[in-house]
Amino acid sequence: MKKINTVLGLISPEDLGSTLVHEHIVASQPGWECDPLSRPYDRGKMVQRSLRALEPAKTFGVGAVIDATPIDLYRDVEILKEVSEQLQIHIICSTGRYTEERGKWGYLKGRSSSGVGDMVSELYDGFMQEITQGIGQSGVKPGVIKVSTGLGCISSVEEAVLLAAARASKETGLPIITHTEDGTMGPEQAALLIGEGVDPKRLMIGHMCGNPSLQYQLEVLNQGVNIAFDRFGIELFLPDKVRTAMLIGLLGIGYEDRVMLSHDYIGCSSGRGGKLPEEGLRPVANWSHDHVFRNIIPALKAAGVTEAQIRTMLVDNPRRLLSEW
Ligand SMILES: [Zn+2]
Repeated sequence: MKKINTVLGLISPEDLGSTLVHEHIVASQPGWECDPLSRPYDRGKMVQRSLRALEPAKTFGVGAVIDATPIDLYRDVEILKEVSEQLQIHIICSTGRYTEERGKWGYLKGRSSSGVGDMVSELYDGFMQEITQGIGQSGVKPGVIKVSTGLGCISSVEEAVLLAAARASKETGLPIITHTEDGTMGPEQAALLIGEGVDPKRLMIGHMCGNPSLQYQLEVLNQGVNIAFDRFGIELFLPDKVRTAMLIGLLGIGYEDRVMLSHDYIGCSSGRGGKLPEEGLRPVANWSHDHVFRNIIPALKAAGVTEAQIRTMLVDNPRRLLSEW
């Protein structure tokens, strides 16, 4: 087993503990800085807001969080370092990019005038720089590569990200975690990445709880990859009852070794507030970094899911994803 890169340095896999696999301690919508009415970027206040949001998860025994914020959603590793240090919780950050529609692509499109091949190598060089040398001057190295696709298709830009990530993952062993939109393109993401030679065990297809079709779940799982039920609490998209029933079903047919849990909650963001980064989400009553512990696990237990199965999803599966290759 390999050591794991956290924002405060390398740790042993057994030190992770219970791990939330897709959260955003801080993330902001691209373009917030173009809004003259945005509040100023105050890192100190953002640290405080992030701490308040994450503290309840810590009290439920969460030992580690994967911050899935890609580079273009204003990933701020200095904030992550502060939060990790103050709360004594491990934070694993990401390299990678967001969807073509919602990410920040003008600059790279300009530099890739001779096409997608250019873009793949530009992206690959950037990911490798962060993985091997660290993010900017921070000294922090990412522990995962994040890729994203839009609604119902993989654009050529998004395909370039997947190809670059596949190359970087094969060379470094870092796992790839994904954003899928509204329960689409999970099977296609898995097929494309595996086709590029990525080990399915190094893959976690994200936002799978956004699609209530068992057939869709199996189209992804049959490819040997891990999946994340990582949007508990975002009931604007799908009721948690549907997510929970689907999860109970998958556990019932033996997939406990492949499912991980999280909320995709955004602890703090820049701009004017109100509009939240991913998919223009609005918070709903239970959405938080600790909702799985407060509400979902009790519901799973009431349906007969065992402590051992819950531990597998929260502790063993993330540890394997992050450290075994
Ligand atoms: Zn996310």
